[in-house]
This record gives sequence, C-alpha cells and structure tokens, in this order.
Amino acid sequence: MSSKSTGLRHWRQRFNALFQDHEIFIRTHGHVRFLRISAVWQKRVALIAGVVLLAWAGATLAVLINQLLTADERAAVAQQQAAAAASEKRIAQYRDRVAETAADLEERQALLEGVAETHFGIDAEAMAAQPAAAADAAKAEPLQTSAIDPNLPPEAQALARLEARQERFASRLLAAVNIRAANAEDAVAQLGLNPAAIVRSAAAGRGGPLIPYKGRMGKAKALGASFAALEGALFRMEVLERTLVAVPSGNPADVLMMSSGFGYRSDPFTGGAAMHSGLDFRGPIGTPILAAAPGRVSFVGAKSGYGNVVEVDHGQGIMTRYAHLSGFTSKVGAQVAAGQQIAKMGSTGRSTGSHLHFEVRLNGVAVNPRRFLEAKADVLEVKNDARQRVGAITARGAR
Ligand SMILES: [Zn+2]
Repeated sequence: MSSKSTGLRHWRQRFNALFQDHEIFIRTHGHVRFLRISAVWQKRVALIAGVVLLAWAGATLAVLINQLLTADERAAVAQQQAAAAASEKRIAQYRDRVAETAADLEERQALLEGVAETHFGIDAEAMAAQPAAAADAAKAEPLQTSAIDPNLPPEAQALARLEARQERFASRLLAAVNIRAANAEDAVAQLGLNPAAIVRSAAAGRGGPLIPYKGRMGKAKALGASFAALEGALFRMEVLERTLVAVPSGNPADVLMMSSGFGYRSDPFTGGAAMHSGLDFRGPIGTPILAAAPGRVSFVGAKSGYGNVVEVDHGQGIMTRYAHLSGFTSKVGAQVAAGQQIAKMGSTGRSTGSHLHFEVRLNGVAVNPRRFLEAKADVLEVKNDARQRVGAITARGAR
C-alpha cells in the first residue's frame, strides 16, 4: 500500500469524524420529539454548501477577470484615442503647413506671371530657357531652395518640390534678366550716356514716364533670394532698355549730307559765335522728315527762330525737335514709329535755305545727336532686341 493512499484515508477519517449522527430533542407544548440528523445527510448538505460556495467564488472570479479585461480594453481605447488626437494634431499642423506652402506657391506664381506679362509678354519661360540664360544660371551661386523636410507627408513634399522648382525658375529668369540689363547698360554707355545715373534717376521717380511696374514686389523679399534679386534686376533692365528704345538713332531725313554740326560755330546771320544745339540736314523742300525713334508727337506749330516745328517725346526724358519745316504730316498726341514721316523739309524761321534742323534733348538739355545717329551695329542690335520686347508689352497694354 502506498503512502499516498494512506494519507488519503487519514484525511477521509478526519473528514468523517466531522460528521457524526446527531439526535436533537425538540419540545413543543409539552411533547418531546426526536429529530435525527444522520452523518450522511450532514455530508450531503456540506457538499452542496461547498459546491454553492465554489460556484459563487467562480462567478466572482469571472466577474473580476471580466472587469480586469474591460479595464485593459479601456486602457487600449484610451491609448487609441490619444494616438488619434496626436495624429489629428499632426494632420492639423500638416494641413497648416500645406496651406502655408500652397499660399506661398500661389503668391510666387502670381509674381512670376506678373513679371512674365509685364516685362516679356507671355514668353518668360521661353526666355528663361535660352541656353545663355541657363548657362549663366548654372554658373550662378547654388540655389537657395527651401529644404524639403523628410518628415513631411508625401503631399507636402510634393509642394516643397514645386516650391524648389519655382525658385529655380526665378533664378534662371534672374540670370536672363541680368544678361539683358548688362547688354543694355553696355549699349547705353556706348551711346555716351551714363547708365548708373539713368537708373538712379528713374529709381528716384524723376526719370520720364512711368515704367509699367506691376506685381506685388513689396513682398518679394519674403519669397526667396531669387525673387528679391529679380525685383532690382527687372527695374534696371526696364529702365535701360527703354532708354535704348527712346534713343533717336534713326535718320530724320533720307539725305546724306550734314551741313552743320553741333556746338559753337559762327552764326550764319550775325557772324558771331553761337551755340548750335542740333545738326542740320540739307535737302530739297518737301523732303519727308522722319521720327528718329518711336514716341508721341508733343508739339506741332511755330516757334521763334525755329519756324515750323514738330517735337516728339520718346520717354525716359528724351525728346527730338525737327525745325524749319514746310509742312506737317502728324498731329499732337499721335503715336509714331521710328522712321514714320511726321513733316516736310522747308526753310521757315531763321533759315538760309531748305534744310532740317534736328535737335535731341535729354531732360531738357540739348545733346549732340551724332552719337545716336552713328550708333554702332552691336549697339543697334541690343536696341533692336529692347524695341521688340518693349514693343510687345506696349502692344499688349494698348489692346
Ligand atoms: Zn540748325
């Protein structure tokens, strides 16, 4: 016999000892009754009580476990909610960032389109794509593009890439504009004018008619380095190219001989020294007189000494005067092209014979027209480029 079964019997004996047959006396109204409770019965009751107790304990445990599980779940839900809130905050930040970037992009785009329309007609993109401009842009300082945050969602990164492309475009546009401005500056200097003084004077608002200068350039600095630099470069290009266009380099009459030069000479009437403020062209009466540059006819009539006079305002402070005329073919306010007939040669006023007296005035001061009429081919080429660009804008503006 094993010690295990011996132990079991010992426990059973102890258990059985708890339950012994009992007899209980119950006395009711003088009668005595015996109530016998057997050990077997007691055991059954104890067993049932035990089972009930166990069942109750089990149920309680189950409820407790259930409650613990629910707490776990509740914690999980809370965690999920916190995550959702955090993600929502992140999304809100991302949305703000995207909205901000989109607004920036829109502003830059409007600026670029404004520049393209104001300064180049539509062809700004084509102009920026010129090989020379592209090469110059490549030589220029490394691009100052906004760094693309790798933590941004893909959509925001796409916007950031667009932003970088836009700034690259502005940088190439800047290079192209700088090339044009440099060429114009060179040509203006070759014509004996002072480019720096012209730009300074224009910037101070004293330089002739207003240059169409739209766009919200005030905000340019906030939009990136290239955009800020573009502002100054465009202004320089515009002023210098318009000056080139205004320069009267066209022959005012289809005659070759210049009978009298600019400067001090002996007066044909008094014989004394007198300032001759223009050039004289000798030719038959009625020879067509041509506008030396595009502009607006600002005076038609007689002036003391000059006889019949036509004056043309070319803008940028440049004016031409045509004197001793025999007749007019233009009216005040008319827009004339370079080479367009405005009058007829004559001998009115202080004149000794049929000739044209041709004057160029820069901000009211007579200058020698010879340097404009004898402009070199390379200068005229730059001037022609400028005329095409400015002409395209003017035509668009007039429409
Ligand atoms: Zn003269």
